[in-house]
Amino acid sequence: MEKATKSNGTSTPPSGGGGAAASHAELADIFNRDEDRVDWHDETLWWIRAKRDKSVHQLPEWEALREAASNIKHNVLSDLNNYLQQFEATAKANGITVHWAADAQEHNEIVHRLLVENEVTQMVKSKSMLTEECHLNDYLATHGIEVIDSDLGERIVQLAGEAPSHIVLPCIHKKKEEIGDLFHMYLGTPSNMSDPQFLTETARGSLRETFLTRKVALTGVNFAIADTGEFVVCTNEGNADMGAHLADVHIASMGIEKLLPKREHLGIFLRLLTRSATGQPITTYSSHFKKPREGQQMHLVMVDNGRSIQLGREDFRNSLKCIRCGACMNTCPVYRRSGGHSYHTAVAGPIGSILAPNFDMRKYADLPFASTLCGSCSNVCPVKIDIHDQLYKWRQVLVKEGYAPTAKKVAMQVMATTLASPTLYHAAGKMGRLTIKYAPFAVNNKLNPWFKNRDMPSSPEQSFGEWYSKNRNKK
Ligand code: SF4
Repeated sequence: MEKATKSNGTSTPPSGGGGAAASHAELADIFNRDEDRVDWHDETLWWIRAKRDKSVHQLPEWEALREAASNIKHNVLSDLNNYLQQFEATAKANGITVHWAADAQEHNEIVHRLLVENEVTQMVKSKSMLTEECHLNDYLATHGIEVIDSDLGERIVQLAGEAPSHIVLPCIHKKKEEIGDLFHMYLGTPSNMSDPQFLTETARGSLRETFLTRKVALTGVNFAIADTGEFVVCTNEGNADMGAHLADVHIASMGIEKLLPKREHLGIFLRLLTRSATGQPITTYSSHFKKPREGQQMHLVMVDNGRSIQLGREDFRNSLKCIRCGACMNTCPVYRRSGGHSYHTAVAGPIGSILAPNFDMRKYADLPFASTLCGSCSNVCPVKIDIHDQLYKWRQVLVKEGYAPTAKKVAMQVMATTLASPTLYHAAGKMGRLTIKYAPFAVNNKLNPWFKNRDMPSSPEQSFGEWYSKNRNKK
């Protein structure tokens, strides 16, 4: 073990993503100002969800695979301590140097130290949501180290100075014309050139130079096998392989929940992962890294950053089963129409809304409320995480712990009192109907967030209760 872990009882909240002062509702409001963008964002993600459905329905054993994956992850989380120690021992025996990071800061310091030891100021990185969670690029930039992201979508958002808005499709919020402008500005393509084939070839050429000249490459980890000490990185572009195979030093950043007990379990997860993510039968590249090639260094940074705390929260520990397929985002009606950046955390959408309050309840108190609780996320989740139940449970925890906004607390109290009293309920209903009828401006105004995008209902002459009292004895 290269570095001792800190106690998980740290009083400093772990880093969870690119936090912002604005709430989900305010950021979604900004995204919604461009209606065309909202429409194709919504339609594109729904198209991917439909591809997922088609692919899934071709496998009669789909539900059995989900069940098996969920159970395997349950087993891992129940005995994580032992699996981690087993993995550390087997990985070290293979020649991998294992580091432990209690939080984002330690992770970033370890990566930085390795870069300094190897006297490099440039690094190529494939997609790793963990490094987004740790803000690695920003940290290294402040220490004079340049990171080039090699996943095409990540490279695009990096050039735009933005964070990924989706864990699988980082630039799904960007129009191809905007990408053309970025490439014109940074990669010298002709102006107004937005042909995807041309832009992809340009990025490929530019990244080829990066791969050939970088001494250090960092990759993420999709799965790690406790039994064999190997780890698996899944990409569709082969960029992780290009970086890792050409570099003298391969650093892999891994959340401690990524473990599987045995290699034979991997097939279940590989069949689930990409079908859920994009509808493909399998990821184009599923690369196994077991030991450094001769003369190469291979470092694995195992990161906690709040995961042990989440493991200790009985109601939320299942969220650590997540294999980051993004299916819950593609299906979520709120995500599709509010955009990933509105979640102001590294992992957006339904699963991000469960993970983020664990990092910092105050900062992310808005996220569990950014859901209709329709349950579509739980239905598509390949590892059967009860996502919408956990969102509902987080709401209760946040209100109980005092993190709900005062206006919401007062409104809920008024509502609870009203619904608990038939007399009050009838009086409130009557008052509401009269207000809509004779003073509609009292509700149809800018202060009412519902009114902004909806037609308010017209007032009925009588309530159902009144109608029923008059008509119940009629035959
Ligand atoms: S919670 Fe489930 S559906 Fe969402 S990203 Fe994780 S594994 Fe995929």
